[in-house]
Amino acid sequence: MPAWRNCEASLSLVSEVNSRWPNRDKTSDGTIGDAAHASRTSDHNPSIVVAGTGVVRARDIDVDGIDAAWLAEHLRLLGAKRDRRLYPGGYVIFNERITTPDFSGWRRYTGTNPHTKHVHVSFTTNPAGFDDVGAWGISTAAPTIPALPEVSMPTVDDFWRAPVPDYYREDRRPMQAWDCMAWGTAHAANARDRATEAREEVRALREEVRAMRAELTGTNPLSAVQIDYAQLAAAMIAAIPRSAA
Ligand SMILES: [Zn+2]
Repeated sequence: MPAWRNCEASLSLVSEVNSRWPNRDKTSDGTIGDAAHASRTSDHNPSIVVAGTGVVRARDIDVDGIDAAWLAEHLRLLGAKRDRRLYPGGYVIFNERITTPDFSGWRRYTGTNPHTKHVHVSFTTNPAGFDDVGAWGISTAAPTIPALPEVSMPTVDDFWRAPVPDYYREDRRPMQAWDCMAWGTAHAANARDRATEAREEVRALREEVRAMRAELTGTNPLSAVQIDYAQLAAAMIAAIPRSAA
């Protein structure tokens, strides 16, 4: 009888991971613990004995060549659905995060190994669960699309705070929206003042023209001459040469 064995859930898990990512790197894979693991409590130690054989209920899977974040989250979601291979007593550790005991989410993992090189999976403490040979839905899962980076939509406040290049300056010194508003207001006020000045100027010119016209009217030499049209007509008639008659 062997001294230890992997639980069935662990074997089917690694088999599905291998079938989905056949070229993956297995350098950081692991099952039974090394001397360091053996010296402390670890699911990598065959501490639960079934039919005389110690069972290792943990599996490390190298992150290279697989979609590790997807795998970790896939396992967490199974745990959240009370998958008996993981719940109760199992957990997943990846990238400084560990699943909560009920697999409802992730919390910060503060152990010495940040688990950035491998995904650690601990299977349930329940023998009927850890030796369940059911499918994991990994080899058959649809190809994953890389998650979009988290983007927080800018608020109106963000727009107000965002620096705007000052195109009126050589060095394009950035200014804040409030500066732009003050700048715009100052220019509008300047334009208004210039328009007022122009109107005053036009008004003054009109007054000047009016005064000149009045002056011209007052000094019109023709207006001072009284013409006796009867006398003028008589003079013109008298000037007509007699010979033409
Ligand atoms: Zn591990």
